[in-house]
Amino acid sequence: MTPEEALQKHFGMPSFRAPQGDIIKAVLEKKDTLVVMPTGGGKSLCFQLPALLLPGVTLVVSPLIALMKDQVDALQARGLPAGLLNSSQTLEQQRETLDGIRNNTLKIVYVAPERFRSKFFLNALPKDAISLFAIDEAHCLSQWGHDFRPDYMRLGEARKAIGNPPCIALTATATPEVQVDIKKSLEMSHPAEFVAGFARDNLSFNVRQTNSDRDKLQAIESLIKQHTTGIIYCATRKSVDAVAKKIEHLTSSVMRYHGGLSDSERSAAQDRFMNGGANIVVATNAFGMGIDRSDIRFVCHYEMPGSVEAYYQEGGRAGRDGQPSVCEMLFSYADKRVQDFFIEGANPGKTLIAEIFDLLCAESDENHEVRLPVDDLCERVGRKVNPMAVSSAISVLSRQNWIERFDIPGKRLKGTRIKQLGQSGRNLPIDGEALGIKAKRDEERLKAVIHFAYAQTCRQKWILDYFGERNGANCKRCDSCRQSKNRESRKPSKDEFTLVQKALSGVARMSRNLGDDEWEPRFGKRKIIQCLLGSQVAAIRDSGLDQLSTHGILKSEGSVYVDALFEALERAGLVQVIADGNYPLLKLTPTGARVMRGTEKIALELPERTAGALSSKQAGASKTAGRNSAPTTGILDRRLYGLLVGQRAKMAAKTGKPAFTVFSNAVLVELANKKPANKTEALEIKGIGPAKLNSVLPEFLQIIKQNS
Ligand code: ADP
Repeated sequence: MTPEEALQKHFGMPSFRAPQGDIIKAVLEKKDTLVVMPTGGGKSLCFQLPALLLPGVTLVVSPLIALMKDQVDALQARGLPAGLLNSSQTLEQQRETLDGIRNNTLKIVYVAPERFRSKFFLNALPKDAISLFAIDEAHCLSQWGHDFRPDYMRLGEARKAIGNPPCIALTATATPEVQVDIKKSLEMSHPAEFVAGFARDNLSFNVRQTNSDRDKLQAIESLIKQHTTGIIYCATRKSVDAVAKKIEHLTSSVMRYHGGLSDSERSAAQDRFMNGGANIVVATNAFGMGIDRSDIRFVCHYEMPGSVEAYYQEGGRAGRDGQPSVCEMLFSYADKRVQDFFIEGANPGKTLIAEIFDLLCAESDENHEVRLPVDDLCERVGRKVNPMAVSSAISVLSRQNWIERFDIPGKRLKGTRIKQLGQSGRNLPIDGEALGIKAKRDEERLKAVIHFAYAQTCRQKWILDYFGERNGANCKRCDSCRQSKNRESRKPSKDEFTLVQKALSGVARMSRNLGDDEWEPRFGKRKIIQCLLGSQVAAIRDSGLDQLSTHGILKSEGSVYVDALFEALERAGLVQVIADGNYPLLKLTPTGARVMRGTEKIALELPERTAGALSSKQAGASKTAGRNSAPTTGILDRRLYGLLVGQRAKMAAKTGKPAFTVFSNAVLVELANKKPANKTEALEIKGIGPAKLNSVLPEFLQIIKQNS
């Protein structure tokens, strides 16, 4: 029987979804196979169907007993020979399944990972009867996956013990480094690899740089006005409450959701959202599991999330019905502090873990039990400690089985029972190195979010690259794609090249030269641009930056042009935002250094200048030339700009008021550059407020529409 026939016969499905057919072909050719496909992509079929066609039994490792049972029930309902083995079964049931494997009456057997701890179980399996070893949720194998399960670490050994059958590992979330871990751990040889299906064609991913809560609330307001249904993710409960309070006046349909609510409050809130009683949820990341409302039109991250994986999973809740939807991250570098605090909380060091163990021992009663809330424990540490770190230390101790947690009837509080008696924390075999590596990985994951936020490339493509799916084209829907619609890469003219070199030397002057084209960044982009524009603000003067030879060397170009120039430098990889410390810094890259010295030429997406830059004298004069004087730089579409100026003059003449009362030059430049398609997009432009929305804006939008 061909796979296609089996698909029809056993599953009643007419055809494979890409790339199921290729995956199944590889498995049937006995290749080791790694599959990374999003939830709902159809991974199960990739081992269930081969299981029916291969001669022996397929063992499927799956971490959750409930899920396992659902899958087996579904297979049995189709009349397929499937069984399961886990600790919730009686010995008799387990023996029956083993018999089914031995006499080949079962073709698919789901096994809980902890079963492989048992030598008895391994010995009981007939070695030559296993045709395929399938590992579902394979990211549990990696310490860097978000859901590490120690029992999964044994699966490589288990595979050998059962006769080294071909192996298929499947997961929905695996970065390239997690994929490497999976392959290594299972000792896969030359595996066929499939990373597919992560693109979401109806979602537009946008990152909005924000400087204040006001900016963020404005953004949320415009999202709510444009879309009826959405989730606003906040990093903390406090932030959930603050945001919900601020937006409640906009719609009666706002709901809050976070871990501080009781179980019944949470499930009531979830039900309300699911049945349409509320359409806007402000929530922490506790909200989402089991949410399958398909008409969510926007997902907004009020603060940056802790990882790209989390971001994509949360954002992915938008537009399940396939309709165009928006994912909006409101980015402010300062929010990194909250995530740093979480990382600190999730990664207690060896010393703190030992300390907490000693403390629990000291506080325990004659039954070796402690009933103390975490806050009290923190107090007893005797110095300021992150309460999350204390909770995490308890989790580490409990995972190692050195303590045990138990429910206290009628209370939310959990008790702790010491299991490693007569031991001091100092002597516990805590793997400090592994803890350190995990903390570092968490930091790396956060850094990836920041790189994503600063990236100048297509957001969807960036994410696909991150997950290792390499065939993505530009989505044409995200903020980066929309902005680059008007840009073209070209060779700079001689004058422009000089400007590029000046800008780069400005970055170099404000960095430390480490030799070999390596430059250590010391300042952020804003300050470097301020310095090049000759700003005299206190922050520049106080640090002596006004004394640099590069201070003011781009003054005549104006800030709109210099901002656009720096964007072009960033997109071309000549400078790069580095997000290691408390502030993002701008680094001169080795290519940037070569271009600065003139040893390398490069094409860039440069903004247009007017013919000939202003002399510094003219530049000085332009400051006083009034608000209607034409800007000379930074305009990407000069023709459209001219039309907008004409429209402004017409409107001003009608009212008899000065032209700038309609719109300032800066607004017209932004309108010409950004070409907003509607009022919501136009509202993102600084200087366009609700007052102009219905009065003058429509005529301008009309001109933009007709001329874009
Ligand atoms: P995953 O394990 O990747 O989360 P599932 O294997 O549970 O996804 O599949 C998700 C849904 O898609 C299931 O309802 C399944 O029956 C359905 N499905 C899978 N493959 C096909 C196919 N080729 N044609 C139609 N439906 C499919």
